[in-house]
Amino acid sequence: MNYCKRCVMPDTRPGLKFKDGVCNACLNYEKKKTVDWGQRWRELQKFCDKYRGSNGDSYDCAIAVSGGKDSHVQVLTLKKKLNMNPLLISVDNYSWTQTGRKNIKNICDTFNCDLVTFTPRLNTLRVLTKKAAIKLGQPSWYWDSLLYAIPYKFTMDFGIKMLVYGENVCYEYGGSQSDTETPSALDQFANDVVKPTKFEEWVGDGVTMKDLDMCKFPTYDEMKKVGLDPIYLSYYIPWDSHRHYLIAKQYGFQHVGHEWKREGTIEDYNQVDTIGYDMNQFFKWLKFGHSTATELAARWVRAGMITRDEAIQLVKEKDDKLDQIIYNDFLEFTRMSHEEFWAIAEKWYNRNIFEKDMYGLWHLKNPIWEQTKTKK
Ligand SMILES: [Zn+2]
Repeated sequence: MNYCKRCVMPDTRPGLKFKDGVCNACLNYEKKKTVDWGQRWRELQKFCDKYRGSNGDSYDCAIAVSGGKDSHVQVLTLKKKLNMNPLLISVDNYSWTQTGRKNIKNICDTFNCDLVTFTPRLNTLRVLTKKAAIKLGQPSWYWDSLLYAIPYKFTMDFGIKMLVYGENVCYEYGGSQSDTETPSALDQFANDVVKPTKFEEWVGDGVTMKDLDMCKFPTYDEMKKVGLDPIYLSYYIPWDSHRHYLIAKQYGFQHVGHEWKREGTIEDYNQVDTIGYDMNQFFKWLKFGHSTATELAARWVRAGMITRDEAIQLVKEKDDKLDQIIYNDFLEFTRMSHEEFWAIAEKWYNRNIFEKDMYGLWHLKNPIWEQTKTKK
Protein backbone atom coordinates (compact mmCIF):
# COMPACT_ATOMS: atom_id res chain seq x y z
CA MET A 1 0.00 0.00 0.00
CA ASN A 2 1.30 3.43 -0.89
CA TYR A 3 0.01 6.54 0.79
CA CYS A 4 -0.33 10.09 -0.42
CA LYS A 5 2.71 11.95 0.79
CA ARG A 6 0.64 14.98 1.74
CA CYS A 7 -2.43 13.45 3.43
CA VAL A 8 -2.97 9.84 4.59
CA MET A 9 -5.07 8.37 1.79
CA PRO A 10 -3.87 5.03 0.41
CA ASP A 11 -3.73 4.09 -3.26
CA THR A 12 -6.21 1.28 -2.54
CA ARG A 13 -9.10 3.77 -2.51
CA PRO A 14 -11.07 3.09 -5.70
CA GLY A 15 -10.53 5.74 -8.35
CA LEU A 16 -7.93 7.67 -6.35
CA LYS A 17 -5.11 8.72 -8.64
CA PHE A 18 -1.66 9.99 -7.74
CA LYS A 19 0.67 12.51 -9.33
CA ASP A 20 4.23 12.61 -7.99
CA GLY A 21 3.04 10.85 -4.84
CA VAL A 22 0.18 13.28 -4.17
CA CYS A 23 -3.45 12.13 -4.40
CA ASN A 24 -5.97 13.93 -6.58
CA ALA A 25 -8.09 14.88 -3.55
CA CYS A 26 -5.10 16.91 -2.28
CA LEU A 27 -4.42 18.29 -5.76
CA ASN A 28 -8.06 19.30 -6.16
CA TYR A 29 -7.96 20.94 -2.74
CA GLU A 30 -5.00 23.02 -3.92
CA LYS A 31 -6.79 23.87 -7.16
CA LYS A 32 -9.76 25.10 -5.16
CA LYS A 33 -7.58 27.72 -3.47
CA THR A 34 -7.36 29.48 -6.82
CA VAL A 35 -11.11 29.51 -7.41
CA ASP A 36 -12.77 32.91 -7.53
CA TRP A 37 -15.51 32.11 -5.01
CA GLY A 38 -17.13 35.51 -5.49
CA GLN A 39 -17.59 34.68 -9.15
CA ARG A 40 -18.94 31.21 -8.37
CA TRP A 41 -21.40 32.71 -5.88
CA ARG A 42 -22.66 35.10 -8.55
CA GLU A 43 -23.10 32.11 -10.86
CA LEU A 44 -25.20 30.43 -8.18
CA GLN A 45 -27.27 33.58 -7.68
CA LYS A 46 -27.92 33.68 -11.41
CA PHE A 47 -28.82 30.00 -11.44
CA CYS A 48 -31.31 30.54 -8.60
CA ASP A 49 -32.75 33.62 -10.33
CA LYS A 50 -33.65 31.34 -13.22
CA TYR A 51 -35.73 29.03 -11.03
CA ARG A 52 -37.03 31.31 -8.27
CA GLY A 53 -40.78 31.63 -8.79
CA SER A 54 -40.67 29.41 -11.87
CA ASN A 55 -43.14 27.06 -10.20
CA GLY A 56 -45.64 29.70 -9.08
CA ASP A 57 -46.19 29.55 -5.32
CA SER A 58 -44.82 26.02 -5.21
CA TYR A 59 -41.25 24.90 -4.63
CA ASP A 60 -38.42 26.61 -6.51
CA CYS A 61 -35.99 23.76 -5.95
CA ALA A 62 -35.43 20.52 -4.10
CA ILE A 63 -32.57 19.73 -1.73
CA ALA A 64 -31.39 16.21 -0.96
CA VAL A 65 -30.85 16.14 2.81
CA SER A 66 -29.85 13.70 5.52
CA GLY A 67 -30.25 16.04 8.45
CA GLY A 68 -26.53 16.41 9.10
CA LYS A 69 -24.30 19.47 9.30
CA ASP A 70 -23.92 19.69 5.51
CA SER A 71 -27.69 19.54 5.07
CA HIS A 72 -28.02 22.44 7.50
CA VAL A 73 -25.58 24.48 5.41
CA GLN A 74 -27.33 23.51 2.16
CA VAL A 75 -30.73 24.62 3.43
CA LEU A 76 -29.33 27.73 5.08
CA THR A 77 -27.67 28.70 1.80
CA LEU A 78 -30.67 28.12 -0.45
CA LYS A 79 -33.43 29.31 1.84
CA LYS A 80 -31.84 32.14 3.83
CA LYS A 81 -29.01 33.38 1.65
CA LEU A 82 -30.64 32.89 -1.75
CA ASN A 83 -34.28 33.32 -0.82
CA MET A 84 -35.46 30.09 -2.45
CA ASN A 85 -38.48 28.02 -1.43
CA PRO A 86 -36.97 24.51 -1.31
CA LEU A 87 -38.60 21.12 -0.81
CA LEU A 88 -36.36 18.89 1.30
CA ILE A 89 -36.09 15.24 0.29
CA SER A 90 -34.63 12.48 2.42
CA VAL A 91 -34.41 8.70 2.54
CA ASP A 92 -35.29 6.96 5.78
CA ASN A 93 -33.01 4.33 7.25
CA TYR A 94 -33.59 1.35 9.51
CA SER A 95 -31.97 2.79 12.60
CA TRP A 96 -31.72 6.34 13.79
CA THR A 97 -29.80 8.05 16.54
CA GLN A 98 -31.86 10.30 18.81
CA THR A 99 -29.55 13.08 17.68
CA GLY A 100 -30.30 12.35 14.02
CA ARG A 101 -34.03 12.59 14.62
CA LYS A 102 -33.64 15.90 16.42
CA ASN A 103 -31.41 17.27 13.67
CA ILE A 104 -33.76 16.54 10.78
CA LYS A 105 -36.65 18.09 12.72
CA ASN A 106 -34.43 21.02 13.50
CA ILE A 107 -33.67 21.69 9.85
CA CYS A 108 -37.35 21.75 8.91
CA ASP A 109 -38.31 23.94 11.84
CA THR A 110 -35.37 26.33 11.87
CA PHE A 111 -35.55 27.02 8.16
CA ASN A 112 -39.32 26.60 7.88
CA CYS A 113 -39.24 23.94 5.16
CA ASP A 114 -41.36 20.98 4.10
CA LEU A 115 -39.73 17.58 4.06
CA VAL A 116 -40.65 14.50 2.04
CA THR A 117 -39.11 11.28 3.33
CA PHE A 118 -39.03 8.01 1.47
CA THR A 119 -39.14 5.00 3.78
CA PRO A 120 -38.19 1.83 1.93
CA ARG A 121 -39.93 -1.45 2.69
CA LEU A 122 -37.91 -2.89 5.50
CA ASN A 123 -37.72 -6.46 4.29
CA THR A 124 -36.18 -5.42 0.99
CA LEU A 125 -33.72 -3.23 2.85
CA ARG A 126 -32.91 -6.07 5.25
CA VAL A 127 -32.43 -8.76 2.59
CA LEU A 128 -30.42 -6.51 0.29
CA THR A 129 -28.21 -5.15 3.07
CA LYS A 130 -27.13 -8.69 3.86
CA LYS A 131 -26.85 -9.71 0.22
CA ALA A 132 -24.81 -6.63 -0.68
CA ALA A 133 -22.42 -7.37 2.19
CA ILE A 134 -21.90 -10.84 0.77
CA LYS A 135 -21.84 -9.98 -2.94
CA LEU A 136 -20.16 -6.56 -2.99
CA GLY A 137 -18.67 -6.05 0.45
CA GLN A 138 -20.83 -2.90 0.48
CA PRO A 139 -23.75 -3.50 2.86
CA SER A 140 -25.28 -0.10 2.10
CA TRP A 141 -25.53 -0.70 -1.65
CA TYR A 142 -29.34 -0.63 -1.72
CA TRP A 143 -29.63 2.34 0.60
CA ASP A 144 -26.95 4.22 -1.34
CA SER A 145 -28.85 3.48 -4.54
CA LEU A 146 -31.94 5.02 -2.98
CA LEU A 147 -29.94 8.05 -1.81
CA TYR A 148 -28.94 8.66 -5.40
CA ALA A 149 -32.22 7.77 -7.09
CA ILE A 150 -34.97 9.11 -4.80
CA PRO A 151 -34.14 12.84 -4.80
CA TYR A 152 -33.97 12.80 -8.62
CA LYS A 153 -37.21 10.84 -8.93
CA PHE A 154 -39.13 12.92 -6.39
CA THR A 155 -37.88 16.21 -7.81
CA MET A 156 -39.16 15.15 -11.21
CA ASP A 157 -42.47 13.92 -9.73
CA PHE A 158 -43.04 17.27 -8.03
CA GLY A 159 -42.40 19.09 -11.30
CA ILE A 160 -39.36 20.83 -9.85
CA LYS A 161 -36.40 21.51 -12.15
CA MET A 162 -33.59 22.51 -9.82
CA LEU A 163 -32.14 19.90 -7.47
CA VAL A 164 -29.33 20.61 -5.01
CA TYR A 165 -26.85 18.00 -3.80
CA GLY A 166 -24.06 18.71 -1.35
CA GLU A 167 -20.59 17.81 -2.41
CA ASN A 168 -19.24 16.08 -5.45
CA VAL A 169 -17.66 13.28 -3.42
CA CYS A 170 -15.28 12.12 -6.14
CA TYR A 171 -13.89 15.58 -6.76
CA GLU A 172 -13.62 16.50 -3.09
CA TYR A 173 -12.28 13.24 -1.68
CA GLY A 174 -10.94 11.35 -4.71
CA GLY A 175 -12.76 8.91 -6.93
CA SER A 176 -13.73 8.09 -10.45
CA GLN A 177 -15.08 11.50 -11.52
CA SER A 178 -12.31 13.57 -10.01
CA ASP A 179 -10.47 15.04 -13.00
CA THR A 180 -12.71 17.94 -13.77
CA GLU A 181 -15.16 19.79 -11.59
CA THR A 182 -18.64 20.41 -12.93
CA PRO A 183 -21.53 22.29 -11.37
CA SER A 184 -23.99 19.80 -12.85
CA ALA A 185 -24.84 16.61 -10.98
CA LEU A 186 -26.50 14.99 -14.01
CA ASP A 187 -23.76 12.35 -14.14
CA GLN A 188 -23.68 11.64 -10.44
CA PHE A 189 -25.18 8.16 -10.88
CA ALA A 190 -22.02 7.11 -12.75
CA ASN A 191 -19.60 8.09 -9.98
CA ASP A 192 -19.11 4.47 -8.90
CA VAL A 193 -20.22 5.03 -5.28
CA VAL A 194 -23.14 2.80 -6.16
CA LYS A 195 -21.72 -0.11 -8.08
CA PRO A 196 -23.65 -0.70 -11.28
CA THR A 197 -25.13 -4.18 -11.11
CA LYS A 198 -27.89 -6.03 -12.91
CA PHE A 199 -31.12 -5.67 -10.96
CA GLU A 200 -32.03 -9.29 -11.75
CA GLU A 201 -29.17 -10.35 -9.48
CA TRP A 202 -30.97 -8.95 -6.44
CA VAL A 203 -34.28 -10.69 -7.05
CA GLY A 204 -35.04 -13.63 -4.74
CA ASP A 205 -35.25 -14.30 -1.00
CA GLY A 206 -38.56 -12.44 -0.93
CA VAL A 207 -37.39 -9.52 -3.09
CA THR A 208 -39.11 -8.99 -6.44
CA MET A 209 -38.31 -6.67 -9.33
CA LYS A 210 -41.18 -4.46 -8.15
CA ASP A 211 -39.50 -4.07 -4.77
CA LEU A 212 -36.43 -2.70 -6.53
CA ASP A 213 -38.14 -0.09 -8.65
CA MET A 214 -37.43 2.90 -6.42
CA CYS A 215 -33.68 2.42 -6.43
CA LYS A 216 -33.44 2.65 -10.21
CA PHE A 217 -31.90 5.89 -11.28
CA PRO A 218 -33.76 7.89 -13.96
CA THR A 219 -32.01 7.74 -17.31
CA TYR A 220 -30.12 10.68 -18.72
CA ASP A 221 -32.81 11.08 -21.39
CA GLU A 222 -35.62 11.06 -18.84
CA MET A 223 -33.91 13.79 -16.84
CA LYS A 224 -33.15 15.85 -19.94
CA LYS A 225 -36.71 15.51 -21.20
CA VAL A 226 -38.21 17.17 -18.13
CA GLY A 227 -35.38 19.71 -17.94
CA LEU A 228 -34.01 18.51 -14.62
CA ASP A 229 -31.10 20.69 -13.53
CA PRO A 230 -29.26 19.04 -10.63
CA ILE A 231 -26.21 20.76 -9.13
CA TYR A 232 -23.46 20.17 -6.59
CA LEU A 233 -23.38 22.99 -4.06
CA SER A 234 -19.68 22.23 -3.51
CA TYR A 235 -19.00 23.77 -6.92
CA TYR A 236 -20.36 27.11 -5.76
CA ILE A 237 -19.24 27.38 -2.13
CA PRO A 238 -16.05 26.09 -0.47
CA TRP A 239 -16.82 22.68 1.04
CA ASP A 240 -15.35 22.05 4.47
CA SER A 241 -16.87 19.49 6.88
CA HIS A 242 -15.50 21.08 10.02
CA ARG A 243 -16.50 24.58 8.99
CA HIS A 244 -19.98 23.30 8.17
CA TYR A 245 -20.19 21.81 11.63
CA LEU A 246 -19.37 25.18 13.19
CA ILE A 247 -21.96 26.93 11.01
CA ALA A 248 -24.65 24.28 11.54
CA LYS A 249 -24.22 24.46 15.33
CA GLN A 250 -25.33 28.06 15.21
CA TYR A 251 -28.62 26.86 13.75
CA GLY A 252 -29.28 24.11 16.27
CA PHE A 253 -27.41 21.16 14.77
CA GLN A 254 -26.30 18.75 17.50
CA HIS A 255 -23.32 16.43 17.46
CA VAL A 256 -23.79 12.87 18.64
CA GLY A 257 -21.14 12.98 21.40
CA HIS A 258 -23.67 13.32 24.24
CA GLU A 259 -25.52 10.23 23.07
CA TRP A 260 -22.76 7.93 21.90
CA LYS A 261 -18.98 7.92 21.93
CA ARG A 262 -18.24 6.14 18.69
CA GLU A 263 -15.24 3.92 18.19
CA GLY A 264 -13.36 4.13 14.92
CA THR A 265 -13.83 7.79 14.20
CA ILE A 266 -12.06 10.94 15.30
CA GLU A 267 -15.01 13.32 15.65
CA ASP A 268 -18.68 13.25 16.59
CA TYR A 269 -20.36 15.38 13.94
CA ASN A 270 -20.09 13.33 10.73
CA GLN A 271 -22.63 10.68 9.67
CA VAL A 272 -24.46 11.06 12.97
CA ASP A 273 -27.99 10.32 11.76
CA THR A 274 -27.96 6.56 11.53
CA ILE A 275 -26.28 3.66 13.27
CA GLY A 276 -25.98 0.43 11.29
CA TYR A 277 -25.33 2.26 8.02
CA ASP A 278 -21.83 2.98 9.24
CA MET A 279 -21.03 -0.72 8.90
CA ASN A 280 -20.16 0.20 5.35
CA GLN A 281 -17.09 1.97 6.64
CA PHE A 282 -15.84 -1.21 8.29
CA PHE A 283 -16.11 -3.06 5.00
CA LYS A 284 -13.94 -0.37 3.43
CA TRP A 285 -11.34 -1.30 6.01
CA LEU A 286 -11.47 -4.95 4.96
CA LYS A 287 -11.30 -4.22 1.23
CA PHE A 288 -9.07 -1.16 1.04
CA GLY A 289 -7.30 -0.99 4.40
CA HIS A 290 -8.72 2.41 5.24
CA SER A 291 -11.88 3.62 6.95
CA THR A 292 -13.48 6.65 8.58
CA ALA A 293 -10.47 7.86 10.59
CA THR A 294 -8.31 7.92 7.46
CA GLU A 295 -10.92 9.78 5.42
CA LEU A 296 -11.48 12.44 8.07
CA ALA A 297 -7.84 12.80 9.09
CA ALA A 298 -6.97 13.31 5.40
CA ARG A 299 -9.53 16.13 5.18
CA TRP A 300 -8.15 17.73 8.35
CA VAL A 301 -4.60 17.61 7.00
CA ARG A 302 -5.70 19.29 3.77
CA ALA A 303 -7.53 21.97 5.74
CA GLY A 304 -4.42 22.58 7.86
CA MET A 305 -6.14 21.53 11.10
CA ILE A 306 -3.59 18.82 11.95
CA THR A 307 -0.19 17.73 10.68
CA ARG A 308 0.34 14.58 8.65
CA ASP A 309 2.15 12.97 11.61
CA GLU A 310 -0.81 13.69 13.89
CA ALA A 311 -3.11 12.22 11.27
CA ILE A 312 -1.04 9.04 11.12
CA GLN A 313 -1.38 8.61 14.89
CA LEU A 314 -5.15 9.02 14.66
CA VAL A 315 -5.32 6.49 11.86
CA LYS A 316 -3.21 4.04 13.85
CA GLU A 317 -5.38 4.39 16.96
CA LYS A 318 -8.83 4.45 15.38
CA ASP A 319 -9.15 3.23 11.84
CA ASP A 320 -9.53 -0.53 12.39
CA LYS A 321 -12.08 -0.24 15.23
CA LEU A 322 -15.51 -1.68 14.60
CA ASP A 323 -17.91 0.14 16.89
CA GLN A 324 -19.89 -2.22 19.11
CA ILE A 325 -23.19 -0.34 18.76
CA ILE A 326 -22.87 -0.31 14.96
CA TYR A 327 -22.04 -4.01 15.00
CA ASN A 328 -24.97 -4.96 17.26
CA ASP A 329 -27.39 -2.79 15.33
CA PHE A 330 -26.29 -4.27 12.02
CA LEU A 331 -26.61 -7.86 13.24
CA GLU A 332 -29.99 -7.22 14.78
CA PHE A 333 -31.38 -5.64 11.62
CA THR A 334 -30.00 -8.18 9.16
CA ARG A 335 -30.73 -11.06 11.58
CA MET A 336 -27.23 -12.32 11.04
CA SER A 337 -25.38 -14.44 13.60
CA HIS A 338 -21.88 -13.56 14.78
CA GLU A 339 -20.56 -16.55 12.85
CA GLU A 340 -22.27 -15.48 9.64
CA PHE A 341 -20.97 -11.93 9.96
CA TRP A 342 -17.37 -12.92 10.57
CA ALA A 343 -17.47 -15.46 7.75
CA ILE A 344 -18.45 -12.64 5.39
CA ALA A 345 -15.79 -10.34 6.82
CA GLU A 346 -13.18 -13.07 6.48
CA LYS A 347 -13.99 -13.33 2.80
CA TRP A 348 -13.49 -9.60 2.26
CA TYR A 349 -10.15 -9.13 4.01
CA ASN A 350 -7.91 -8.09 1.15
CA ARG A 351 -5.09 -10.65 1.04
CA ASN A 352 -2.80 -8.26 -0.84
CA ILE A 353 -2.65 -5.85 2.05
CA PHE A 354 -3.57 -7.89 5.16
CA GLU A 355 -1.90 -10.86 6.82
CA LYS A 356 -3.23 -13.12 9.52
CA ASP A 357 -1.55 -13.83 12.82
CA MET A 358 -1.53 -17.22 14.58
CA TYR A 359 -4.75 -16.36 16.46
CA GLY A 360 -6.60 -15.59 13.26
CA LEU A 361 -6.53 -11.80 13.56
CA TRP A 362 -5.79 -9.77 10.46
CA HIS A 363 -3.21 -6.96 10.38
CA LEU A 364 -2.14 -4.57 7.64
CA LYS A 365 1.15 -5.76 6.17
CA ASN A 366 2.58 -2.34 5.56
CA PRO A 367 0.56 0.32 7.41
CA ILE A 368 1.30 4.01 7.10
CA TRP A 369 2.77 4.25 10.61
CA GLU A 370 5.34 1.57 9.77
CA GLN A 371 6.21 3.21 6.46
CA THR A 372 6.95 6.56 8.07
CA LYS A 373 9.01 4.84 10.79
CA THR A 374 11.36 3.31 8.22
CA LYS A 375 11.68 6.59 6.35
CA LYS A 376 12.78 8.50 9.49
ZN1 LIG B 1 -3.62 13.32 -0.44
